[in-house]
Amino acid sequence: MDLNLKGKVILVTGGAKGIGAAIVRACGAEGATPVILDRDEEAGKQLQAALESSEVESGLIVADLTAPGSCAKAMERTIQKLGRLDALVNNAGVNDSVGLEQGSPERFVSSLERNLVHYYAMAHYALPALKNSRGSIVNISSKTAVTGQGGTSGYVAAKAAILGLTREWAAELLPFGIRVNAVVPAEVLTPLYQQWVSGFPNPEEKLARIISKIPLGKRTTKPEEIADMVLFLISERASHITGQHVFVDAGYTHLDRALT
Ligand code: NAP
Repeated sequence: MDLNLKGKVILVTGGAKGIGAAIVRACGAEGATPVILDRDEEAGKQLQAALESSEVESGLIVADLTAPGSCAKAMERTIQKLGRLDALVNNAGVNDSVGLEQGSPERFVSSLERNLVHYYAMAHYALPALKNSRGSIVNISSKTAVTGQGGTSGYVAAKAAILGLTREWAAELLPFGIRVNAVVPAEVLTPLYQQWVSGFPNPEEKLARIISKIPLGKRTTKPEEIADMVLFLISERASHITGQHVFVDAGYTHLDRALT
């Protein structure tokens, strides 16, 4: 199946590591031009160098998405350098454990800044370019949006809002032919995930327990498996798909517990 992404400009927030980096690499492999937007300069440069060695053109914008004006500037720079935008992948986020009891209203708002507000800001500033290209948006959410996790109100509120906004933006952007979908991962072994597991008293045992409950294949999802779905949704092969929440999670969220 040809995704026909050659020459398309695809901006990926949090694109330097983990799921975002897998999306960036997959864009490169399809002949698209990925733009990495991330605060980790070192990881971004390393990824860009790897892309260059495979003769893939890419952009790198080093910025913290929570900094005032950073989203508007990132979009400006993308258009200045590459002249167009065909897809926005809102991906950057962090499960930051701002709980109901172990938290505060101020920390809750900061968590929304880290996990939600920049999704809106990026989509808002990307809109003129996406109208020109009849492009699309993919938002990365989390299964915690529908299952809860405990001790992480800010992150879960953001991830659930992202599912709501996916439907809302799909509706608002119908007249422009801009499709908006969400991809929902559950357990993907990335630097963020490894850091989260390492916070438990016995990380190996914790990970083994989680893996034993993953229905399909009894393994974590590979970042590349999330990337494959994102690229399909961006591509014209998904031309009649909008407002959807696609769970790429080996059945972890929805299948009968009796199966595990
Ligand atoms: P990751 O390994 O931490 O990679 C994310 C990248 O985004 C990192 O380079 C990170 O930089 C960067 N980033 C985060 N916040 C940023 C900000 N405000 N400004 C600029 N860059 C920022 O994370 P991941 O596991 O790939 O997660 C990607 C997305 O998938 C997140 O939205 C996450 O909630 C979602 N997700 C992941 C899983 C999973 O199992 N991994 C499950 C469900 C949902 P730093 O390293 O400096 O933070």
